[in-house]
Amino acid sequence: MKLSFHGAARGVTGSCHLVECAGKKILVDCGMFQGPREIEEENAAPFGFSPGQIDVLLLTHAHLDHCGRLPLLVQRGFRGEIVATPATHDLARLVMLDSAYLHEEAGKRAQRHGKPGDALYDTMDALDAVDRFGRTARYGVPIAIAPGITATFFEAGHILGSASILLELSEEGRHKSLLFSGDIGPQDRLLLNDPAPPEGVDIVVMESTYGDRDHRPLGNSLTEFYAAIRATLTRGGNVIVPTFALERTQEILFALHQGAAQNAIPRTLPVYLDSPMAISATRIFGRHPDALRPEIAAMITSGRDPFGLPGLKVTREAADSMKLNEVHGGAVIMAGSGMCTGGRVRHHLRHNLPNPDSSVIFIGFAAEGTPARAIVDGANEIKLLGKTIPVRASVHTINGFSAHAGRKDLIAWHNRTKTRERTFLVHGEEKPMKALAEALAPARVDRPRPHQSFEI
Ligand SMILES: [Zn+2]
Repeated sequence: MKLSFHGAARGVTGSCHLVECAGKKILVDCGMFQGPREIEEENAAPFGFSPGQIDVLLLTHAHLDHCGRLPLLVQRGFRGEIVATPATHDLARLVMLDSAYLHEEAGKRAQRHGKPGDALYDTMDALDAVDRFGRTARYGVPIAIAPGITATFFEAGHILGSASILLELSEEGRHKSLLFSGDIGPQDRLLLNDPAPPEGVDIVVMESTYGDRDHRPLGNSLTEFYAAIRATLTRGGNVIVPTFALERTQEILFALHQGAAQNAIPRTLPVYLDSPMAISATRIFGRHPDALRPEIAAMITSGRDPFGLPGLKVTREAADSMKLNEVHGGAVIMAGSGMCTGGRVRHHLRHNLPNPDSSVIFIGFAAEGTPARAIVDGANEIKLLGKTIPVRASVHTINGFSAHAGRKDLIAWHNRTKTRERTFLVHGEEKPMKALAEALAPARVDRPRPHQSFEI
């Protein structure tokens, strides 16, 4: 039996792990490398294995850095079955089609500048990948992958439908259990159930994104969020919330819903959701109540909308988005992208950052080198859409909405698995990964390098 790491090894993106057992090849995730150009260039490189020889792909969740290279995998010859939870199936379709569109647009832009402009993959590739989705996984129910190999999905609490995947492997009388954590969510989220890994496994492959720090408690973050909105409304400005389309948007909508019900914010507060992808993702959430906390599921099945607000308006069309430039105050505007590297939020920032009455509330991770990070770090002006924009609006960073477990929850998760043999840490930068490895001592911990293989 063999385990190889072809992505998210000593890095946070591009998750892709290969298991070989009893003549079968099983891939867990096939994500996009994201970040600066030299990292994104890795997407076009060979996978490190032959896509046509992969029998089954198990998908932990629908984030781009876990499913984003699936269309490329199919383009290069993968003809096996993709197994995922029903919610992951729906969300991955949306994420892959959006990604294909963005690649096509980037290709056209490059061509206009006289460059080759070949898209990494296109919409047809994404649709071919959608066609490879086969059986859907229910939490806790084993799925037969091949004789002597089963896969069981467990709640990971990270985004809707996210899973940790347990592989039980048999080869020539030897048995091994191998658990892939996927991305692990924190405890006590607004919408999702807590992670629930199986207990007693031989080997764990585990994420380590926040292996060196904890987040602020969610309750404090909600209080801060409502206070920032009230203060902005009093001044007469707008609240701009750069959001990530999956999970974060729905959590914020629910937080606003709850805030209005508790009179923490005005009940009729105008809220604009200005992101076609977030609008589609929110509909998918409504179709999967069984993947949400029981109290949220009960709201949906009894006909109440946990993401609904009296003042909510969704803007799919670009023309409607542009009209929001005329809203000079008194509204919350949610738009992507979360790190302000693209998307409609850039226009809202251009109109609101120079206004000292407005505010920008960051609720997610802001990577080095992004406009979001520059604003968070206190820049007096930033470059957006080719213009220099002064930053006079008040800026808030609220980190309790994280979709990733902090250090304490990661350690607790690992303890619950009662891992018997060894742990491989993936999906983390150098510093947090090292810190988590030290915290897990005396467990045997490895930090694999890209394309490294291990006999198990
Ligand atoms: Zn994720």
